[in-house]
Amino acid sequence: MKLATCPYCGKKVPYFRAFVIKSKCDYVCSSCKRESKISVSQKLKKVFLAALLISLLIIIINMIFQSTDNITLVALSFLPMVLFYLLIPFYIKLKPYLKYRDVVCERLKTLEQTKKQERAQRRAANKRKSR
Ligand SMILES: [Zn+2]
Repeated sequence: MKLATCPYCGKKVPYFRAFVIKSKCDYVCSSCKRESKISVSQKLKKVFLAALLISLLIIIINMIFQSTDNITLVALSFLPMVLFYLLIPFYIKLKPYLKYRDVVCERLKTLEQTKKQERAQRRAANKRKSR
């Protein structure tokens, strides 16, 4: 398991920083000050489901054996979810923002071009009408 690293300079994102940024969209590197896009690995869903299943299993086992020591078992059933929560920073990924911006720029350019073409076509159509 590895913590996310800056896609530009390769600096590791500190664990607690990763924890804080997990719900945000952008990450600004502390060493090179460049922005990257935050995404969460698809594997995290599987880890979540595994944790949920283990929790349920503990609850079911508790129900079957009708344990009197409920507090320990309740705590135990929460443990997989706590572990899952603590593992989140390891499933955060950073992608360089530049590429993303380039894509947006290209789309805007093509949009402008099509608009220009449309305008040219309209002008041509107007000329034909005026004749
Ligand atoms: Zn960096």
